[in-house]
Amino acid sequence: MTSAVSVGVVGQGRLVAQLRDEVRALDDQLRRAQRLVTVGTITSMIVHEINNILTHVIGRLELADEGDETSCRGSLRRVRKGYDSAAAICQALLHLTCGDPQQVQTVPVAQLIEETLAAMARAPSKDGIVLIRKVSPKLQITTRPVELKQVLLNLLLNARAAVLGKEGGSQSICISASRRNGETFIRVADTGVGIPPEYRQRIFEPFFTTKNGEGTGLGLAVCREIVESLKGRISVRSQLGKSTCFTIALPWDGPDAKRR
Ligand code: ADP
Ligand code: MG
Repeated sequence: MTSAVSVGVVGQGRLVAQLRDEVRALDDQLRRAQRLVTVGTITSMIVHEINNILTHVIGRLELADEGDETSCRGSLRRVRKGYDSAAAICQALLHLTCGDPQQVQTVPVAQLIEETLAAMARAPSKDGIVLIRKVSPKLQITTRPVELKQVLLNLLLNARAAVLGKEGGSQSICISASRRNGETFIRVADTGVGIPPEYRQRIFEPFFTTKNGEGTGLGLAVCREIVESLKGRISVRSQLGKSTCFTIALPWDGPDAKRR
């Protein structure tokens, strides 16, 4: 009798361990899928930008072929600039997709933001959007940078869409960061279309989108998932037709630090 009970307990222990392994494997798969969703959102923009750069490069090479030595040098300098822009986009995407998402690091918040802006492929200024950064170069955060950059990229892409979707008025996106009471706050604010009150509860639901045919509705669901896994919170304030501000609050000393 006793041995039957202990065999049962051992069997249950093994089952629990097996289930734990399966949950871990599924969690890994989910995170990989989330990264693909984020990059998938910007694929067409990346292709478009790199195509623009290549067209420009070919044009300059043709000019270099026909011109005198001075104009040839000028054209080659432009070609080099085009190459650098394309390389910067590729580098930023590699950081975003190939880095270890689980790695915890202490990094300047400003650096995270710059790397995320580079991964946007198309600089907001090209669409007439004023980009404002309010981040102290000294502000550091211990976190999983690859995951946090995914969150910021989703918020910035939404902010850009919101600003471009509004007719007239000032077009700006402000990204700011500060620290208070053991938490780091990162805010992405835009002067875009705003969110109707009846949607505010729903925007974090998977597949909720108002971008007919152009959105996946997964961006904010992924953001919330990641932020919570980083032991943080995400919230939104919005004025319809005027502005929206997403705030992420994260523990500055990392997702694995012991809380009091
Ligand atoms: P998607 O961008 O694919 O639609 P998201 O989960 O990123 O999916 O966003 C869900 C919805 O939330 C969007 O379709 C939009 O209606 C709303 N939304 C998100 N960010 C903003 C913003 N900055 N301004 C206005 N609406 C927003
Ligand atoms: Mg989105």
